Amino acid sequence: MIGCRFGLSKEEIFEEAIRLHRLFKGKIEVVPKVPIRSMKDFSIWYTPGVAGPARKIADDLDEVFELTSRWNTVAVISDGTRVLGLGDIGPYAAYPVMEGKALLFKYLGGVDAIPIVLATKDLEELIRVIKVLEPSFGGINLEDIESPKCFFLLERLRKIMDIPVWHDDQQGTALVVLAALINAFKLVGKDIKSSRIVLVGLGAANYSVLRYLEAYGVNTGNIVVVERPDIGILHRGHPLLERFRNTHPHWYEAALKTNSENITGGIREALKDADAVIAASRPGPGIIKPEWIKEMNDYPIVFALANPVPEILPEEALKAGAKIVATGRSDYPNQVNNSLGFPAVFRGALQVRAKKITDEMCIAAAEALAKYVEETGLSENRILPKMTEVEAYVREAIAVAEMAINQGIARRKISREIIEEEIREIIERAHKLPEMLGLR
Ligand code: NAD
Repeated sequence: MIGCRFGLSKEEIFEEAIRLHRLFKGKIEVVPKVPIRSMKDFSIWYTPGVAGPARKIADDLDEVFELTSRWNTVAVISDGTRVLGLGDIGPYAAYPVMEGKALLFKYLGGVDAIPIVLATKDLEELIRVIKVLEPSFGGINLEDIESPKCFFLLERLRKIMDIPVWHDDQQGTALVVLAALINAFKLVGKDIKSSRIVLVGLGAANYSVLRYLEAYGVNTGNIVVVERPDIGILHRGHPLLERFRNTHPHWYEAALKTNSENITGGIREALKDADAVIAASRPGPGIIKPEWIKEMNDYPIVFALANPVPEILPEEALKAGAKIVATGRSDYPNQVNNSLGFPAVFRGALQVRAKKITDEMCIAAAEALAKYVEETGLSENRILPKMTEVEAYVREAIAVAEMAINQGIARRKISREIIEEEIREIIERAHKLPEMLGLR
């Protein structure tokens, strides 16, 4: 039934999606995972027996990770202010999107995720509400929250919560971009750490890309950031620099640490002699012009990530001389798909009860993803795996779990063999679940 959507126009897909969402009335449900052979079993799972685990947890709070589902349960939280490419459509309209995310969490990572949409846009209120949810969850996935609020929210929550807090539009995108970029640089035979990389747009996605590139060892002086036409290239002498300090602290930070040559101008000037461009700005085409690609260094790498239409269409970029092109779209090769990141990162983090998701854990995930592709067939049209490649998720999750243990932020310290066995079993079970439930 669902397979018939291929070959439909966009409007027809929307209509089909409404019909199927109405038919199934949502996409996830809670199902028991313990045997219930008779009503007597409830005296174990509920009263009076459940008082045993409850008292145990009251004595030792970490026992909640062993005696309840908290360890594997993540909240997918949005205020509905920047949903997909639809903008500020509010928390109710964000619900099906968050539910879809929960579905991906389960199917790809074996993670139980609960959609939580909040009727507030206020930063302080969001922080207070999310913080008090902590006892219910093993992790928090922030989703589709407008920038620059999302930066402050993530940073503050990461400091005050003792479970992983993640904003997928920032870290998730950056992880997959880094993996793709590592592989693209391997293919063109250049050293990513000393190459000229241009970021077009410094919002949720590219701000994290900048942070991860720096953490990966890329010389930030060689990175050039271009914002919208009225702002242009960020540099130390930018006339609005002092204003950015309050309005856009991430632009301020980037202006100080990137662009050591103090290049000025717009996208064209930034791209001259650059090795790679990562655009995550606004839907194109026409944001990046083919003639600017021609002025890049040999073997240009072009990531045009805006959805639904990339900043430059892949066919135009390739015609202008781009060697490797990636977009956010599934109908072109090299889709930078966030679903290649978050399910495995959380799988790895939850498996060892990590208290945080650090940049090092994400970089380990990006490297594992890149290496998996290298081992299974790296080419100009395959710098990332497809969502169907289960092994990629397993490798990534193991890398994340091991890094958490090495960094001393895992509550559970287990051997690599056990990590691998557990992760493989959970991910493979999740893939089989729909069939087990008769949903195919
Ligand atoms: P955002 O709104 O947080 O940031 C966009 C930034 O681009 C802003 O700082 C804005 O000022 C800047 N910008 C706007 N017009 C510009 C122009 N003409 N030139 C240069 N900069 C410009 O959004 P985001 O979450 O960072 O996402 C940006 C785009 O990337 C969106 O289209 C989004 O759909 C896409 N995206 C794709 C993926 C993916 O493919 N996996 C992941 C994340 C985001």
